[in-house]
Amino acid sequence: PLAPPKDLFAPQRQSSQGLNLSDLELLRQWQADLAKHGDKTWRAAPLVDGQICSGETFTVYSPFDRTTMVGQVSRSSPQTVEQALQQATHAFTAWRLCPVQTRAAYLNQAADLLEQQRLELAGLCIREAGRTFADALAEIREAVDLCRYYAAGAVELFGRPQALPGPTGEENKLYQYGRGVFVCISPWNFPLAIFIGQIAAALAAGNTVIAKPALQTSLTGMACVRLLHQAGIPGDVLHFLPGEGAILGKQLLSDQRVAGVAFTGSGATARGINLQLARRDGAIATLIAETGGQNAMLADSSAHAEQLVMDVLKSAFNSAGQRCSACRVLFLPEETADIVIERLIGAMQWLRLGSPLDLSTDVGPVIDQTALAKLHTHIAYLKQHAKLLYQLPMPAGLEKGWYFPPTLAEIAELSLLKQEVFGPILHIVRYAGSDLSGPIEAINASAYGLTLGLHSRIETTLQSARQQARIGNVYCNRNMIGAVVGSQPFGGMGLSGTGPKAGGPNYLLRFAVEQTVTNNL
Ligand code: GLU
Repeated sequence: PLAPPKDLFAPQRQSSQGLNLSDLELLRQWQADLAKHGDKTWRAAPLVDGQICSGETFTVYSPFDRTTMVGQVSRSSPQTVEQALQQATHAFTAWRLCPVQTRAAYLNQAADLLEQQRLELAGLCIREAGRTFADALAEIREAVDLCRYYAAGAVELFGRPQALPGPTGEENKLYQYGRGVFVCISPWNFPLAIFIGQIAAALAAGNTVIAKPALQTSLTGMACVRLLHQAGIPGDVLHFLPGEGAILGKQLLSDQRVAGVAFTGSGATARGINLQLARRDGAIATLIAETGGQNAMLADSSAHAEQLVMDVLKSAFNSAGQRCSACRVLFLPEETADIVIERLIGAMQWLRLGSPLDLSTDVGPVIDQTALAKLHTHIAYLKQHAKLLYQLPMPAGLEKGWYFPPTLAEIAELSLLKQEVFGPILHIVRYAGSDLSGPIEAINASAYGLTLGLHSRIETTLQSARQQARIGNVYCNRNMIGAVVGSQPFGGMGLSGTGPKAGGPNYLLRFAVEQTVTNNL
């Protein structure tokens, strides 16, 4: 375990079980176990007070095979939304006073259940979201870590009031309580870790929760909520509302009973949520938003070319580039650009694009037809404004899925990218000289500020670049994805989010309100 400095609040990270992915016997066993759940039909429906509610239903097909049904989802009706708001508001009175140790115990129990049900959940995540096996397992580990981290953090932060100074005969104490009803709106790219992370934080801090999953991954969301209930979270404290964001958002976000919103997704949606919350009468609601990035990896000529290539490959193409942290742009100095590009293309040829059911797949499908169409539109744009350098040939047999091949293009400058491109497309920008301040200025000018990768063997270069960059997560001489709970608190600034950082020591505080109590003894 990490030992934090004494004066800094930081819950100890308790890591989830490690998995030996090089044990072939074990992998075969898992593959067989995954296949056992392979044709299960999953179901998602609104869950209010632990009860399933009916609603208009649609069928979910797998992103890697649009003829394979994964399950059925019922949308939440306006009446169901109203019931969830009523129940969550009513349950808050008791939940805010529920001892934090009890709330933490439920979350620790949820972490244990996640580990026990790992294979079934991974199988669902693979089938519904097209995650690779390694990604699905990593996500479950992250969800486990988040539950335990927030449980430990809540006990430390909220377990007893903070004593404050005062004159003789006066006692001052600072207490923390939940804010009220929190709406947690999560994305499809981390249907398990981000979904559970938002909910766990809100619950740990003493809020009741209405969870709105991404439409594309409602089945995984439902399985997670079931698991949290099984872990002991009362049904009236955590409700689940699948459905279209725009429709549910209108009703939920205009309601004065909502005290806060935790959102991960696009910047445009975050702005929309902020506007809707601001238009309401009544108390001002808290918004915690984690949005996109235009993330760059920046190398100088001292960078170790092989390491740079491996780190870029992972950062740009892992999860089919569908991470907000993913590398979208690689800045290379003129001096070494050609050689790095050549090696990058060489390495890209070894990537395996294919079904996530195949354990050797590196890059799976993108989430749906809309996502695929956006990538094709971007390629059409690049054909006019850039030079396409390489595109992995499409292997045969992938016609039934939403596949997009890893692609490399060269653009003249970063400002040609008007918005985040959420997929496996990497852009190269060359810069002259050895000074990184020009590229960093361009990155800052984009106003996004999520992740930045720096590759240099010169310590002073790394130091001045990270100081100049207005970026939330800076990674030096390594890849720039996969932030670890408790070690790399995750979240951006500027257009990339409001903070505080998920998996960091300050996250829970934003979910809470403070009460100062002064006692004349
Ligand atoms: N936390 C993830 C990472 O570090 C990214 C989360 C996201 O894509 O929203 O890669």
